[in-house]
Amino acid sequence: MIHYSCDRCQKSIDDQALRYVVRMEMHAECEEIDSPTPDESQLEQMQEILADLGEESGEELLEDVFRRHRFDLCDECYKCFKEDPLGAGGFPKIRFSQN
Ligand SMILES: [Zn+2]
Repeated sequence: MIHYSCDRCQKSIDDQALRYVVRMEMHAECEEIDSPTPDESQLEQMQEILADLGEESGEELLEDVFRRHRFDLCDECYKCFKEDPLGAGGFPKIRFSQN
C-alpha cells in the first residue's frame, strides 16, 4: 500500500483523507525562437535525443529548460496553496512550530 505524505508540512495523509495533487510545469521560453510549448510526445522525443547525447549532460540540459514537479498536499496545505499559488505570502516555506 502506498502511503502519501504532504510535501509541504510532511504530515502523512490518511488513506481515507483527501489528497490534493498539484502539478507544476516550468519551461524556458524565448519569443525569438519559434517553437511551441512541448507537448507530451515532443517531450519524449526530446528526452530520447538528449539521452543519446549521454545520460548526464542530457538530463542536465533538460532540467534547465523544462521542469515538472508534482506535489501531494494535505487538505490544509492545499487551502494555503490555493490562496497563494506563487508564494507571495511565504509558500512553500515550511513553518515549524515554535513549541
Ligand atoms: Zn500539509
